[in-house]
Amino acid sequence: MAQQEKSEIYEQLAEKMSNWPIRSPLSKELRKILETLYTPEEAEILLVFNGPYVDQFTAEKIARKVKRPLEEIEPILENMTRTQRIFSLEKNEIRTYSLFPLISGLFEFFFANYKRAEAEEGETLKIFAKEFEKYYNKGFVAEIGSSTSPMMRVIPDQKVIDDSIERGEGKVIEVNEEITDQVKHDILPFEQVKLFIENVRSIAVMDCACRTHMRINNNGEPVNAYPIESVCMMFGTWADYCVQQGFARALTKEEALETLKRAAKAGLVHTTQNMTDKITFICNCDRDCCVLLRGLTKFKNPNAFAKSNFVPDWKKDDCIFCEKCVELCPMYAIQHHFGHEKDKSDEEIMINYDFCIGCGVCAYNCQKGAITMVKKYAIIPPEKPLDSAKEFVEGRIH
Ligand code: SF4
Ligand code: SF4
Ligand code: SF4
Repeated sequence: MAQQEKSEIYEQLAEKMSNWPIRSPLSKELRKILETLYTPEEAEILLVFNGPYVDQFTAEKIARKVKRPLEEIEPILENMTRTQRIFSLEKNEIRTYSLFPLISGLFEFFFANYKRAEAEEGETLKIFAKEFEKYYNKGFVAEIGSSTSPMMRVIPDQKVIDDSIERGEGKVIEVNEEITDQVKHDILPFEQVKLFIENVRSIAVMDCACRTHMRINNNGEPVNAYPIESVCMMFGTWADYCVQQGFARALTKEEALETLKRAAKAGLVHTTQNMTDKITFICNCDRDCCVLLRGLTKFKNPNAFAKSNFVPDWKKDDCIFCEKCVELCPMYAIQHHFGHEKDKSDEEIMINYDFCIGCGVCAYNCQKGAITMVKKYAIIPPEKPLDSAKEFVEGRIH
């Protein structure tokens, strides 16, 4: 294959992968990632897809489209599946294949299964990590946060919502109840993480791709003390895929709730898709590594993700100024004002509501109950995946 032909194949592949709400425009970093991950032959086969996930083709169909024998195509597809370069699922004994977008797909699953990549292709893993970080910092982060209707949102831990319900601060609205303007201020089903867990068919947990990616870029040393193993939860078809591929393990509903508790205790923020129905994952994210949270913590982009409808409320009488909330707030939105008066009467915990994302990490970890979460906003996310994608595209500001 001529050099120019090869080059064009990667350009076309980047274009196909970009046919997705979070676009991944070609740059020298993305080209390097694609050239490292896909041989020209593999990249050419992937051009049969119109865009990520939109087509799910069998090996036979792909072979027909590229006009090559099935015996040649199938092993190539299987190898790309095994190494998290394409999405594939077996359902009713029929295996289909799809193209991954850069996120959510290629990045998450390649790094979540870093143990395989480290054992088999350590250099590829390093190049992907290094080039992705450059690509992200230069501009991909802006693509993730390019819409006033973000693709992801923060969801506070169930415990702080239950505490709020117990204090009688919000009437709980049942799953099938109509959401009128009047009830928007009550506690709605999409705000209760336990309802998603109760209603999903299957759950799986895998390692955190973002903290793994940063660890690889940091010569193998974790950049912070947040847990990496078994923190990222997938649901339904996604859970099936991760378990079938062997880099995630199935969880019971009880184990899933325990995973969320463990994450909240560690100071991690639950994030999920910005929609009310059929979410497919819940991530547990940190301020230093997460491709979502860094959009705000590092790049100050208010469109990086949607905040929750809750805000923390601090009560001085219950506070012992232990500073746990100051230490854990992922947005550095809490400070301890030490006080100027001798009797410390003006000592306080100051919350900067401009930076607060309503994650509830402070309230969850306050042993004295001096911080509670109260519902302040009444923003309802789009309902289904297609609505969320449509609103993201319509809300694009660049
Ligand atoms: S989005 Fe969050 S949990 Fe998911 S991989 Fe990134 S930091 Fe980890
Ligand atoms: S964690 Fe609670 S008790 Fe400790 S400083 Fe914060 S509000 Fe006060
Ligand atoms: S103050 Fe910090 S920890 Fe508390 S809800 Fe806001 S962002 Fe989360």
